[in-house]
Amino acid sequence: MIHSVVIVGGGTAGWMTASYLKAAFADRIDVTLVESAAVSRIGVGEATFSTIRHFFDYLGLDEADWLPKCAGGYKLGIRFENWHGNGEYFYHPFERLRVVDGFSLADWWLAIGDHSRPMDRQVFLTSALCEAKRSPRMMDGSLFVSGLDGSLGKSTLAEQRAQFPYAYHFDADQVAAYLRSYATERGVRHVVDNVQEVLQDQCGWISGVRTAEHGVLTGDLFVDCTGFRGILINKTLGTKFESFEDVLPNNRAVALRVPRETETDMAPYTTARAMSAGWMWTIPLFRRNGNGYVYSDQFITPEEAERELREAVAPDRDDLEANHIRMRIGRNERSWVKNCVAVGLSSAFVEPLESTGIFFIQHAIEQLVKHFPDKTFDPALIEAYNRRINRAIDGVKEFLVLHYKASSRADTPYWKESKVRAMPEPLAERLKLAETQLFDEETIYPHYHGFESYSWNSMIIGLGYRPKKPLPALAHLDPTDALAEFDKIKTEAAEMVAALPSCYDYLASLNE
Ligand SMILES: Cc1cc2nc3c(=O)[nH]c(=O)nc-3n(C[C@H](O)[C@H](O)[C@H](O)COP(=O)(O)OP(=O)(O)OC[C@H]3O[C@@H](n4cnc5c(N)ncnc54)[C@H](O)[C@@H]3O)c2cc1C
Repeated sequence: MIHSVVIVGGGTAGWMTASYLKAAFADRIDVTLVESAAVSRIGVGEATFSTIRHFFDYLGLDEADWLPKCAGGYKLGIRFENWHGNGEYFYHPFERLRVVDGFSLADWWLAIGDHSRPMDRQVFLTSALCEAKRSPRMMDGSLFVSGLDGSLGKSTLAEQRAQFPYAYHFDADQVAAYLRSYATERGVRHVVDNVQEVLQDQCGWISGVRTAEHGVLTGDLFVDCTGFRGILINKTLGTKFESFEDVLPNNRAVALRVPRETETDMAPYTTARAMSAGWMWTIPLFRRNGNGYVYSDQFITPEEAERELREAVAPDRDDLEANHIRMRIGRNERSWVKNCVAVGLSSAFVEPLESTGIFFIQHAIEQLVKHFPDKTFDPALIEAYNRRINRAIDGVKEFLVLHYKASSRADTPYWKESKVRAMPEPLAERLKLAETQLFDEETIYPHYHGFESYSWNSMIIGLGYRPKKPLPALAHLDPTDALAEFDKIKTEAAEMVAALPSCYDYLASLNE
């Protein structure tokens, strides 16, 4: 039996892991978390994925309690701005496509939709809520879609059957602090100290970590949550890190925390705006926005990127301090090696587009619990874990490369190069197929990676890459029901916009 787990690192990954292990195994295992006061957290990672609700429900936490304590906001999707280079925008919401007579509304839109307006405004209800900056909850707390309210209890990502309509924005440091209280109240030992040396036995397995002031911390299983440093998994165990920079070249970011001009003007979505050499995020938290420019230093210097970011979001605020971050893009060949499991940035990072960092953490800890070892550390269990983790990351990698390949923007050296850059071979085949037919579950990346075919289709159509003509079959079908469905979405959207409070007003009621 494994009795003790040592987690090194107290960022989002460390505290999510500590909390989850306690929620899963309670006092049947001892958990120690050691974090350095001298090495700061990455300090970004404020937008999430709709599956995050499984995490908070698993911990038994109520949104109305934790969200206001983490400066939280709602995220109904992502608004992509200027990815054509002409100022247009579209939404990629957390909403599946409706189906009429066996064909998705995206297929119907290609055949009979109004092509003078973006597809997302016609096929998704959520786009209207984003446009009107509405909360997904009524003032009485009920959700705008029926049947999805209530706690899921101890469910995992694999049980996500219905598409939950939103995710969260939150302050990464406040989430870490909130989860720290949760975990320590449930018995996690918290050590604030610097790990100076990682000790190994004669077979290379980790036997302990030597700290500056608390001696050697020993355990059966070690979780490396040390961020991009990968102190256990890479520096000690020498695990190979496979870079994705050949296909995803953004390797730096510069972030700013910006007070909102009008505090109440709070959007319920993340914005991803294409810039000259990358893209910029805007993440609305309750009282401020998080902003950042993700770019490739082959095309722009950090100084130029900071200047472009400041001009875009805070032209008069020289007092705001910029956080320059170097990103390690790629994944470990294996994230679980011997008795060490890397979770968070020490395991993998694709880049912040589509906000998958915290999703990877959640996926990793769920899988760690499902594959939790005994002292034999069965290699088959470890292999199964690594296979799942790698597949999820590789799927997201493909999906992100698609964003750059499918975008019609090609006006700067960065965007021109994105069209000729290498791409994973299977993605090239998938994009070829998409010239004839929209994606379905058979033609997207075939293993679990968090995104469904509706996401792949939202992105290619929004980005301007779409089948050359509608499916021939649709010309033989009666379009009456499809047209009625387009009208129904319009009517439902207008009703919802009228009934729902603004995103800010609803959150203000939770913050009272
Ligand atoms: C620019 C950028 C934007 C991002 N945006 C998003 C987003 O919008 N959504 C999303 O889901 N994800 C995002 N991510 C990813 C997200 O930030 C991370 O997945 C998340 O913050 C987890 O980080 P971490 O805990 O792995 O690492 P960190 O936050 O870096 O924490 C590392 C921890 O290790 C400790 N440590 C390091 N060395 C030692 C030592 N020697 N001894 C003891 N402790 C040590 C540090 O003190 C710290 O506590 C983004 C990442 C980047 C780079």
